[in-house]
Amino acid sequence: LIALGIETSCDDTCAAVVTSDRRILSEVLRTQHHLHEPMGGIVPKLAHHAHMRNLPDVVKEAIQQAGLGERGIQEVDIIAVTRGPGLAHCLGVGLNAAKTLAAALNKPLIGVHHMEAHALTARLTTVDPNLVSEGQDGDSATTMTTSKGYVPAGSAPHPEFPFLTLLVSGGHTLLLVAHSVDRYTTLATTVDDSIGEAFDKCARQLDIPWLPGRAGGPGASLEEFAKSSQNPSRYLDQLPIPMSLRTNKRLMKFSFAGLKSAVTRIVDQEKASSPTGGMDEEKRRDLAAGFQHCAVTHLCQKVEQGLVDCHEQGMHISSLVISGGVGRNATLRSRMDEICSEFEYKDSSKSNRKASSKTKNTPQSVPTVALRTRRSVRVICPPPKLCTDNAVMIAWTGLERYQQGLVDPYDIDIVPKWPLDMLGTGVVPE
Ligand code: ATP
Ligand code: FE
Repeated sequence: LIALGIETSCDDTCAAVVTSDRRILSEVLRTQHHLHEPMGGIVPKLAHHAHMRNLPDVVKEAIQQAGLGERGIQEVDIIAVTRGPGLAHCLGVGLNAAKTLAAALNKPLIGVHHMEAHALTARLTTVDPNLVSEGQDGDSATTMTTSKGYVPAGSAPHPEFPFLTLLVSGGHTLLLVAHSVDRYTTLATTVDDSIGEAFDKCARQLDIPWLPGRAGGPGASLEEFAKSSQNPSRYLDQLPIPMSLRTNKRLMKFSFAGLKSAVTRIVDQEKASSPTGGMDEEKRRDLAAGFQHCAVTHLCQKVEQGLVDCHEQGMHISSLVISGGVGRNATLRSRMDEICSEFEYKDSSKSNRKASSKTKNTPQSVPTVALRTRRSVRVICPPPKLCTDNAVMIAWTGLERYQQGLVDPYDIDIVPKWPLDMLGTGVVPE
């Protein structure tokens, strides 16, 4: 089966052609970062107009590059498109194009939930978290699955249901159980900012230079900037690890507002006490590293708790899938790998959690390669490039849904706000 996927939910215009036997035939992405970056955030009207300008060419290129047979686009079996959640006008551009194509070509249409797509990407292609770090994956728009770091189709273990999934992106911080295609339960979500927002705001606070030509936005720049911190513990006594007090340790909630405010407070104090009114680079690197450490530790603690909770409810979770833009972060990937490899199921009724030394408040350097073969919970990450928005994940999710008989009529509408738990209930929010 061959799927054409279209994604326009936010600020990237994407189209891709993917097969059910896990081949990415083409992948085209036109970014709008240059339009929004000077405005300090995404401007929906600009994004809408850019999608209208770019989508026809992007789809045309994806079809041409796929090298389909003689019948060209008629070789495509299904058309998948992001239906929600996302920016309403932007979603409309992609959905209308997909509906029109599907109707004209007489092909099945699959409206995809953007977050389900982030969660299912790992079933298309996965990579060991320790084998790929930022920048190795080739961020060009049309890299194929064979590029460095990708596990060739067929040789990688893909997560089987049920699996735990941590979706950490610009708009979401979600820990979910993926029971099957179309069925998810949220274990934890954020009560304030998303982790992506926290990285972005913190990067701005610390005046971290934008890395031109580098994918991943301010969060990726912060990660890079923090790498050369000489004293990552410098500010740790002033930075809280959210929700980690004894009373709310078991609370399944994420929160980043307090950590973000602590960063602001430290920056203000440092500036006030400096004769130049600035904060020197060494200290800014240390603060970036401290922030990243606390944010990642917070995620690790809740994932560990989630594993315990699932186990206590009799669910056997064998994989943790990390996806979404912040899932590109190498520190996050390796720390998750550490806690999951140390997590052991004792027997069917009780969990035996070995307290991970890595969750203590001491920053870690990123280990280079540590391929463990024996572990109770595997960490599975899509290649970094497929963690941020892309149409490959939409095409793949379209295929997974189609194979379960989930097809949509040609008159479906966009769903800008759409909790993932509502999938499979037959109810779609107005
Ligand atoms: P959503 O999927 O929730 O609608 P989105 O699609 O805008 O949100 P993504 O493209 O998945 O979000 O992720 C973008 C976010 O990921 C940004 O906040 C960016 O700063 C962050 N990010 C990207 N790379 C890294 C990294 N290496 N470390 C930390 N954060 C990162
Ligand atoms: Fe996304």
